[in-house]
Order: sequence, then structure tokens, then C-alpha cells
Amino acid sequence: MWRDSPDSYAPGMSIIDTAFVGGPSLAQERRIVTPIPGPRSQELLERKRAAVAAGVAHTVPIETVAAGGGVVVDADGNSLIDLGSGIAVTSVGNAHPGVVAAVQQAVAQFTHTCFMISPYDSYVAVAEKLNALAPGDHEKKSALFNSGAEAVENAVKIARRFTGRPAVVAFDHAYHGRTNLTMALTAKAMPYKSGFGPFASEVYRVPASYPFRDGLSGADAAATAISLIEKQIGADNLAAVIIEPIQGEGGFIVPADGFLPAVVDWCRANGVVFIADEVQTGFARTGAMFASELFGIVPDLITTAKGIAGGMPLAAVTGRAEIMDATHGGGLGGTYGGNPVACAAALASIEAFENEGLLGRAQQIGGILRARLESVQASDPRIGDVRGHGAMIAAEFVDPVTKAPDAALTAAVAKAAIAEGVIVLTCGTYGNVIRFLPPLSIPDDLLIEGLDVVAAALAAQPPR
Ligand SMILES: *Cc1c(COP(=O)(O)O)cnc(C)c1O
Repeated sequence: MWRDSPDSYAPGMSIIDTAFVGGPSLAQERRIVTPIPGPRSQELLERKRAAVAAGVAHTVPIETVAAGGGVVVDADGNSLIDLGSGIAVTSVGNAHPGVVAAVQQAVAQFTHTCFMISPYDSYVAVAEKLNALAPGDHEKKSALFNSGAEAVENAVKIARRFTGRPAVVAFDHAYHGRTNLTMALTAKAMPYKSGFGPFASEVYRVPASYPFRDGLSGADAAATAISLIEKQIGADNLAAVIIEPIQGEGGFIVPADGFLPAVVDWCRANGVVFIADEVQTGFARTGAMFASELFGIVPDLITTAKGIAGGMPLAAVTGRAEIMDATHGGGLGGTYGGNPVACAAALASIEAFENEGLLGRAQQIGGILRARLESVQASDPRIGDVRGHGAMIAAEFVDPVTKAPDAALTAAVAKAAIAEGVIVLTCGTYGNVIRFLPPLSIPDDLLIEGLDVVAAALAAQPPR
């Protein structure tokens, strides 16, 4: 069996039970054999309560033992449909065979040297790939890190060094991470910021574009933001503007047409570095390699993480060579940044994106999600808005009359879906959005079944 506790593990014993090997060969089915959580999962969750800090919460009350294709399997034998990809991470599929093989080979070669001590090929190869894939035909360079937050921190460091200016603009509904600077950049107090201040200084917030709620054209929303920036900060003091092309945690908010290009144009005219935080939107998630392409913008710097390495921790800043090179030698880096095992996983993931038609697959998945959610919306006005691109689609739940956010309904639908074996995630400044981020390896029938379960969960919620 799977290793129960440190005591049940004898040296030399394999901790891998082949019954629990994941990847696409796992039975692709929703299978509920116990209530969720089942007894084994409950045991783990008891130990978690006792051993793990309370601040580290979880959405799905199971003990995960395997995942792949479109399912996550728990220790009780339940098989759940995965519509979350571990927050947009396992885009190529969990335990993708190419990623597994690349990781196994890399880990047997060397686990770490620190790229700043003795460099290796896979790091440079990932940088070359990122430079080639990122939008724009200018000369680009990259630096690798461990997490999205770390990439965002470094993008800001680089922009400040390049411009010699201190201020950074972030937007309403923004999410950029949980470290001190990225908490400052993040908009939402609960749960990300409350009680964790004081925060980094010289961070300013302006309104974004949220067509469903502000009703503004892209040009008008951009003019509002730019006017505030000019009056309250001053371009001369501003190093960078950072924005998610589609805001993720904030509610999968797709800006109105023209908003992002207007902001980029203003940045360029004023010597301000435009940073696209593509940690969630990047790497084929939206049906384009980068969401920036959907809006016709070319960012100066792009941050990536999540979907980049098939589940291994890796992040990057990629951008204009002259900006990336503004930093003195030794000014960027980190002990683990660009770990060789994570880089091998990234190269295998990129190969999968290129060879398995995953951009097209993301578009197909988007078509299925959007059509189904819009048809549910047509008969249930509690879905106020369906939006997104590719395999990054969301439904916003509201009071049908007032459009007031309905977080309670959202939480109830998500909870009911999970209890029926479908992993869905919520998001949104107002907690009233269910977001769909399936792995691109999910078969159509599972995706459709997952949507059936969510639709039934909504139908079962009485009107409030
Ligand atoms: C998840 C996320 C981050 C933070 O990434 P971590 O790897 O959790 O540090 C930053 N920006 C965006 C847009 C994200 O979705």
C-alpha cells in the first residue's frame, strides 16, 4: 500500500505502489466509492490538522494518490474529474509521460549545482525557448526562479534598476502572490493580506477594466487609469505597470477591447516598463501561448510560472534584452532558481505544447466550456456572466435582479460539485466566480460530465 506513516516505511522498500502511478493511463472516469472524504482521506486530514499550520487551507478534502489525463484519484479509490489543474499548473496533464521521463533522467544526472555556481544546459535551453516563444520579435533574455511571486518580485526589481524610478502601478482585482511585495501588489485583503502588513511602499492601485461591472469601453477604462497615474503618481516616478492580461484570482476578468493596448502605448510613450503577469494565463492556457497575443500587445517583461513545467516549481521573467541586462552581475538569482530537474520538466512540457496540438486543444475545451455555461445561463439568470479564453473560462454568480455578487451560491455550487467528484475552484474579488481550468489532457466526455455535475449542482440550489 501507499506509505502510511514514516514507521511503515522500511529502507529498501519501494514507496511506489504501481496501483497509484498516475498519468494518462489512469482510468479516465468519475468514480465515487465512498463519501468524500472517505476514511483514509479523513485520517490524513486529521494528521494535517495536527501537523500543518492552519493558514494552509485546502479546497478538496481528499488524500491524493495519483492523477493524470482528466482525473485525480484519492486514497479511498475515488476518482474525481479535475477541472482545476492544481490552479492552472498541470496544463499538459498530470504526470505527463514526457515530463516524468525527463524528470527521471535529469534527477539521476544531478539534482542541483546552483546555476550561479556552475551553469548547465537545461537552464539555458529553457531561456532560449522562452525568448523565442514570448511575443515580439525584439531581442529577449530570461531569468529563472521558483515561483510566480518570485518572478513578479524580480520583474519589479529589474524595472526599477532599468528606469531608476521607484513607483509601481497595479490594478483593482490584481493577484500577484503572497510575498511582501506581491501582497502589496495584490488587491484582495482576505485571505491574502489581512494582518500581514506593513506592505512594501511605492505601490499604487488604479481601476482596471471589468466590462460586466463597470460598463466602460476599453478606451474609457484606460483613460481613467492613466489619468489617475499621471495626477497621483507622475510618469517620471513610475518604473512599471504590472497587470494580468486576464485577471485570474480576481475573477477571470477579461478587459474590454482596447484597454490593454492603450495602457501599453502610454507606458511606451512615458518610458514605463509594462509587465504582463502571465503566471496564470501563460503557456497555452488561453488557447494562445501567451494571453498578451489575444489582445495584440507586446509586453516589455512577462512573468511565467504555473503551467510552465508540468507541475515542477519553475518561474521566469522574460523580456527586452536591454531591460533584462540593466541589472549588475549577481543582482538576480537564487539558490534554486532554474533547478535542473524543473528545467528538464519545462523542456518536456514545451515539447508537449508544440507536438500535441495543445493550443488547439485549449481552444476546443474553451468552446465546450463556453457553450455549456452559456446554455445554462440562458435558463438560469443567476449566472450573470460567462467569460474567458481557451481553457480558462469562468461563470460569475449574481442576484438576477440587482447583479449583486452571490458568494454563498458560488460556494454552495462548488461544494456540491466536489462532493459529487468534480474538482472546481472559485475565485473573484467578491468570491462569486467559479473558474474552469481543466488540464488540456482531459477527454471530452469527462469534461462534459464534469459540466453536467456543476449544472445539476446549480439547479439544486434554491433561489434566494
Ligand atoms: C498564482 C499567481 C501568482 C503567484 O504564483 P506562485 O507560484 O503561487 O508564487 C502570481 N501571479 C498570478 C497572476 C498568479 O495567478
